[in-house]
Amino acid sequence: MTRVLLPAAVALAPLLVLIVVLSLVRCNGEHEPTVGLTAEAELVSPDGAAIGTATFLQTSNGVLIMAEVEGLAPGGHAFVIHEAGACTPDFDAAGDHFNPTGADHGFVHSAWRNDDSGGHGGDLLNIYAAADGSARADFLTDGVTLDEGPSHSVFDDDGSAIIVHELPDPYGEEEADTGERVACGVIVSTGGGG
Ligand SMILES: [Zn+2]
Repeated sequence: MTRVLLPAAVALAPLLVLIVVLSLVRCNGEHEPTVGLTAEAELVSPDGAAIGTATFLQTSNGVLIMAEVEGLAPGGHAFVIHEAGACTPDFDAAGDHFNPTGADHGFVHSAWRNDDSGGHGGDLLNIYAAADGSARADFLTDGVTLDEGPSHSVFDDDGSAIIVHELPDPYGEEEADTGERVACGVIVSTGGGG
């Protein structure tokens, strides 16, 4: 029996080493979020009026974003995380869509290419304002994290901001015209996670 098992163990040893190495690589390649981290963005209109909030909660499945906005034109509006945490001197200060992976914009675009980039990390779904201009929307996204350090952190060197656009995002065009930027809010940490 020993004669059979010993050579088998020797033969399997390199395989076991390979499995351990692969496991380590996989663990190091995945971001382990700090569940419970929180953040908030106070949304203002171009004339500086407070018109809403977006609150952020890091979960194990991604960042849960809960938004309430007032004073919008009825209908759809693109709701996007932008690359810079600035809303002054005007909303252009927030820069482009937050794009830590160098992907192309849009969920539909991504599906057509049959790739797994999933669009920009900051791409979210549209919000839809009712006839009275109020909107309520929740999102769960793994395109960003509230942890500092990973490349897809909203708290990178220049921070990040939420922008509400005048028009809805058709999701499929790289340079879709979503009109004016009608609300902006810098994302700020409110703690949590401890
Ligand atoms: Zn985008």
